[in-house]
Amino acid sequence: MSRIEFREVAADFDSQLRRQTARRREQGLYRRLRRVKSAQSPRLRVDGRELLSFASNDYLGLANHQLLREAAEQAFREYGVGSGASRLICGSLEPHHELEQALAELKHTESALSFSSGYAAAVGTICALMGREDVLVLDKLVHACIVDAARLSRAKLRVFRHNDVNHLEEILQWADRRAGGDDATSTARRARLLVVTESVFSMDGDIAPLREIAELKDRYGAWLMVDEAHATGLFGRAHGGRVDECGLSDRVEIQMGTLGKALGASGGFIAGSQALIETLINEARSFIFSTAPMPAASAAATAAVRFLQTGEGEQRVRTLWQRVDEVRKGLAQMDTASADIVSPIVPLHVGDEARAVAWSESLAQAGILLPAIRYPTVGRGQARLRLTLSAAHKAEDIAQLLEALDKTRTAETTS
Ligand SMILES: *Cc1c(COP(=O)(O)O)cnc(C)c1O
Repeated sequence: MSRIEFREVAADFDSQLRRQTARRREQGLYRRLRRVKSAQSPRLRVDGRELLSFASNDYLGLANHQLLREAAEQAFREYGVGSGASRLICGSLEPHHELEQALAELKHTESALSFSSGYAAAVGTICALMGREDVLVLDKLVHACIVDAARLSRAKLRVFRHNDVNHLEEILQWADRRAGGDDATSTARRARLLVVTESVFSMDGDIAPLREIAELKDRYGAWLMVDEAHATGLFGRAHGGRVDECGLSDRVEIQMGTLGKALGASGGFIAGSQALIETLINEARSFIFSTAPMPAASAAATAAVRFLQTGEGEQRVRTLWQRVDEVRKGLAQMDTASADIVSPIVPLHVGDEARAVAWSESLAQAGILLPAIRYPTVGRGQARLRLTLSAAHKAEDIAQLLEALDKTRTAETTS
């Protein structure tokens, strides 16, 4: 074989990738990074312009809150920047443990474990619990991290139609029959059955029928994992999330969340029984084989959890829901086809990818950041503008948004 010049290999590598990127562009699916030169807030300096943002998951405006900054600074002074090693070696620092205690209290569970991200929490947990012989049942719209975890676990995968408990029951019946066919005398452990859903769906902002799902999973002996990435801090009397709100804290085996959204910091976590957490410490590979999170991030998240318990925290949550109300009323007046708005996530359905991008661009002209969400984040032809609200938004911000939306819509229909 003749020796290929290394430059040719490199050139071929780039040209293959460029062709792939060109195809993405043709399909309206090309994405690029926007350079943001300001802290998270409703007013962002993006690519050199100030935009009013309805794009962040910083629902309570905590990402740049003084309390969190001070907690992080204190941790920096005391524990430095890096954790130095994984948790199991010598990186299990005091701020990690304090955070986990605060999370267990927030979630009304025996214990909790933090991870470097929600993504890592999902992958580590599902793969620690489920194997080739087990059955995983997912809502059609669960987050990519759960889909990836499911694939990596090699468990048998079944998907139920979004929020459709009848379809879920059919699948559980199938799993039940399948388990019944097992050789009862077999010494192998019984196949595990795990249902995974989100309590508030990230791209649609709708909510799962958790009580009905809990009834079903108990009837069929399945376990339940609920991803509360968009509910922690926002729902329930003590803002623990929707599992707490529905009174299901002792029936949902695995509660998952992120520290990077309403809690304003970064990292992910699992809350559950002592037995679950011990298993994860010993078996979750994304926990074991990864440097412990920055202590300052954990300290900031702990400050956020504590803040939620104060009167001021309570007021923040109320302000957020007030903004949600204002948007609900405004959109209803515009008779925009938006379904029930039950969370700070409001999808404005556009459908066509290129059209969604055009809307997003014309809103940016009007000073508003409202990104187009496209495949693969949502299905093909289901592109949307994903509008998220924050307690940091002012009533005037909502008025400005509604006006810009109305103009953009009118401009499109008359052009
Ligand atoms: C954001 C998100 C995650 C991932 O959490 P990170 O901490 O950002 O990795 C998981 N699940 C859902 C539903 C999410 O929206």
